[in-house]
Amino acid sequence: MFKKSFKIKIIIPISIILITLVVVLNIFLSLRFTAFSDSLVQEKLVANINSLRLFLDDSKANSLAAAISMTYNSDIVKAIKEQNRNELLRLLSHTQNTYRIDFFTICDNEGIVLARIHEPDNFGDSISYQQNIKDALNGKISSYFEAGTVVKVSIRTGAPVYDTDGILIGVVSAGIRFDTEDTVEGLKRLLNSEITVFFGNTRIASTITMNGQSIVGTTLDPHIAEIVIDNKQEYSGRIDILGEKYDTFYKPLLNANDEAFAVIFLGIPEMKLITASTKSIRDGIILGLSGLAVSIVLLYYIISSISKPITKLSDSMNNIANGNLNIDVQINGEDEVGLLGKSLQKMAVILQKLLEGINTMIAEQKKGNTDYCLDTGDFSGDYKILANSVLELTAFGMIDQLTGIPNRRSFDNRLDLEWNRAIREKDAISIMIIDVDKFKNYNDTFGHQQGDVALKTTAKTIKQTIKRAMDFAARWGGEEFIVLLPSTDSAGAVCVAEKIRMEIENMIIPCTDLKGTRLTVSIGVNTLIPVTDSPIDRFLSVADTALYKAKETGRNRAVFGGEIL
Ligand code: GH3
Ligand code: MG
Ligand code: MG
Repeated sequence: MFKKSFKIKIIIPISIILITLVVVLNIFLSLRFTAFSDSLVQEKLVANINSLRLFLDDSKANSLAAAISMTYNSDIVKAIKEQNRNELLRLLSHTQNTYRIDFFTICDNEGIVLARIHEPDNFGDSISYQQNIKDALNGKISSYFEAGTVVKVSIRTGAPVYDTDGILIGVVSAGIRFDTEDTVEGLKRLLNSEITVFFGNTRIASTITMNGQSIVGTTLDPHIAEIVIDNKQEYSGRIDILGEKYDTFYKPLLNANDEAFAVIFLGIPEMKLITASTKSIRDGIILGLSGLAVSIVLLYYIISSISKPITKLSDSMNNIANGNLNIDVQINGEDEVGLLGKSLQKMAVILQKLLEGINTMIAEQKKGNTDYCLDTGDFSGDYKILANSVLELTAFGMIDQLTGIPNRRSFDNRLDLEWNRAIREKDAISIMIIDVDKFKNYNDTFGHQQGDVALKTTAKTIKQTIKRAMDFAARWGGEEFIVLLPSTDSAGAVCVAEKIRMEIENMIIPCTDLKGTRLTVSIGVNTLIPVTDSPIDRFLSVADTALYKAKETGRNRAVFGGEIL
């Protein structure tokens, strides 16, 4: 079954969050970008419209300045008066650039063309029908968008020329044309937009091309033509030209008769912005996804570095749960996981120590070494409580509850231990069975409770009388005690037995009603240097027989039952 690891649990939701974030961000930015591009186009269109107006105003001002300036030039006045075409062509051909105009047309006081700078061979025709010429012949300086004989769409200024006598001798007409490829290309460079000039509703110059060819000769959309030409209104809108979307502006050029005889079109193709927008969105997605991939890899490594010690911790915990305290967590670092690892290791060490202590204590007590105890000082808190409980429980099994000295089980363990040691070391071992004399009478006389006090006092006296560390006294059962004296020969054993007998004879048992009571004991003693096959039961039964003898021969005595060693 697929195991959902800690790592996967973090990486999957975070990846989903990050992917969602990138997608949402991209959608949001795309929408914002589209709105932003739209507003940029609109801004650009407005700026371009203003620039176009300025350009047209400048053109008018330039033609005006050029025409007026020429009327004050005495050489030109002279050349007009003399109708010297060559001189006029020579004088005027250099001034065009100075005034940034495209042409000069000079005519006499009848409106007959004397010279055309832009078409030197075309002269002699009448242009008196042109409003700027007409006004000039009437002594008035005026500028108009006009269609001429040669130039279809231009702005031109006509200025009257007087001789020194103040007689009108001709007209200087200066103009800027809008009907050439140069003009539209220049405007395109200036405005960074597509430019088309219409004469009537026909395109006569355009920067828009189809199959590498300028789209001149084609006509304006009738709907727009109606607005711009018929209604003489400017038009601005988003339209399709040759399958491409443009944000457009159409400006009608009104002639002297207030007719929209020409139109200037300005268009910003959307394609460029859409391409830029698509590219930005694509770049954004690529960048976002790359960032995402890097983030996920980083995340993987970060989480790995966190999850690795957690996995170690989990393994260690599993070991502990399965009863294996022998763990080595091996997590370094002072962070939370590191501290958790250290605590776990510490806990395992404490539990191990507790278990070892308990096991050792049980093993020792089994050997009869009732003095060996678990050191509860090594533990604290609940562990200390547990250690104390174990201690109590063990003592309960090995210690006689009434007298507080080892019980028969303890004695059996100790006897086994010392017996084998004596065999190994070929050493003497002595035993004595101590039986309280006429204890039934004592109980009957002073009561069972006082009998218990007597047993406690007797046990205490026996314990205090045996001095060697290896000597061992236990309650054998009832009012009988047993003493084991390792490395003790028969003389020594008899001596100790006699001493115990005397101590008990002299001991005063405290009693609530009386000043004190007394008791005596009979003791059966045996000593042996055991060999491998020596029967331990016999060792005991000899002592028991000796005790029986002591009872028989008058009590309050110690009788040695074995061989003298
Ligand atoms: P003897 O000198 O022959 O040993 O006589 P005895 O009365 O001591 O011997 P017996 O075996 O007839 O009686 C032992 C008595 O010890 C019987 C019992 O009431 C008493 N006894 C045994 N265990 C206890 C104990 O734990 N507390 C008290 N108070 N008495 C006990
Ligand atoms: Mg008895
Ligand atoms: Mg007795």
